[in-house]
Amino acid sequence: MSKVMIIGCGGVASVAIHKCCQNSEVFSEIMIASRTLSKCDALKEKLAPTTKTIITTAKVDADCTEELIALIKQYQPDAVLNLALPYQDLTIMDACLACKVPYIDTANYEAENTDDPAWRAIYEKRCEELGFSAYFDYSWQWAYMDRFKEAGITGLLGTGFDPGVTSVFAAYAQKHYFDEIHTIDILDCNGGDHGYPFATNFNPEINLREVSAPGSYWENGHWVEIPPMSIKREYNFDEVGEKDMYLLHHEEIEALAKNIPGVKRIRFFMTFGQSYLTHMKCLENVGLLSTTPITFNGQQIVPIQFLKELLPDPSTLGPRTVGKTNIGCIFTGIKDGKERSIYIYNVCDHQECYREVESQAISYTTGVPAMIGTMMVVNGLWNKPGIYTTDEFDPDPYMEALNKWGLPWKVVENPVLVD
Ligand code: NDP
Repeated sequence: MSKVMIIGCGGVASVAIHKCCQNSEVFSEIMIASRTLSKCDALKEKLAPTTKTIITTAKVDADCTEELIALIKQYQPDAVLNLALPYQDLTIMDACLACKVPYIDTANYEAENTDDPAWRAIYEKRCEELGFSAYFDYSWQWAYMDRFKEAGITGLLGTGFDPGVTSVFAAYAQKHYFDEIHTIDILDCNGGDHGYPFATNFNPEINLREVSAPGSYWENGHWVEIPPMSIKREYNFDEVGEKDMYLLHHEEIEALAKNIPGVKRIRFFMTFGQSYLTHMKCLENVGLLSTTPITFNGQQIVPIQFLKELLPDPSTLGPRTVGKTNIGCIFTGIKDGKERSIYIYNVCDHQECYREVESQAISYTTGVPAMIGTMMVVNGLWNKPGIYTTDEFDPDPYMEALNKWGLPWKVVENPVLVD
């Protein structure tokens, strides 16, 4: 039995809320708190007749710590699950700290305004010191470690699929299959087709910022940065088939490099079709991916936010998306003195997700682990004051929950490796 406040009511939150409502024994009460109250109320109206979970709703501006503190004090949750945007991570963490309530999210902090001189000075120093230039990194949230420890509360970062499940796969491989992991390749394949010329599968602003950034990987103790989309490989994915995939910077690499002892190389690949890349390059070339405000008809607008208004809302892609995702990790290393390689992955069908929770598989594969991570924290199975990623806890109960709650996984020995 627990009482959880969920912030945000978009594509991912909608799935997590559906799953909490299927799991009323753990989530006896939830509050859906977001910027647009009507979206929270509509979801409550749909789910209330189907569940024992008691649902309440509230309007909150998650950019405002004081507003969040007031709402947390009023509702008294056992944990706060942040499914708004990465821009709100720190204000929500501050509120959790002030109220001594555990904090959970699915994506690491990213500044909304990348022209802010105070943020930029820290960012540029970090780029120089660490050697990667993505706008997002863990330093901002890891800085809360001591304060969360002192407050005696758990902060669980990045419990989506990637990051999230991929890092649990790494902890599971480390625990059961290897004495030492040497390489990790995280492969994120979306074989889905929504029929639009161009759309993103989760929040367009966050997604396009992520995939248009330079790629980078971890090798022999340091980052190697490369121009965007400049490393391409082909891979034949189980239940999806042959796809082109490109090396991207991705946040779990940072945590895994710190937490997997002896790891020599970590890379992340995501599949993209040529049409997606051509659209993205064109949008970038005309300036529509820019985060710097411009003046239009006397009004300040941010080009990428304007683009988001033009693109299909990812939460509406469910009914029209067909095909499957295949996301997982290939590990190589040593067990009992011998070389070993395994591939742990999940395959998820867009239409099956839609039939179950009215959502496509990208939101599903993120929302289910968000529910599971929150369950681990409120059940006390993952209870460790401080700030941690999902690779820093016992993976077994989480892996069991993935099988139970809709994301079954397979372990394959001696998979085809990525060169
Ligand atoms: P959406 O844009 O669909 O949803 C975001 C929600 O947050 C919306 O309901 C929005 O409100 C709300 N929101 C935004 N700003 C505020 C604010 N200031 N105060 C209160 N509420 C706010 O995004 P997604 O559901 O696609 O993504 C949610 C999160 O999941 C993101 O952080 C994303 O990076 C992460 N993610 C993680 C993945 C993983 O595997 N780890 C994969 C995919 C996504 P409104 O409805 O009014 O717009």
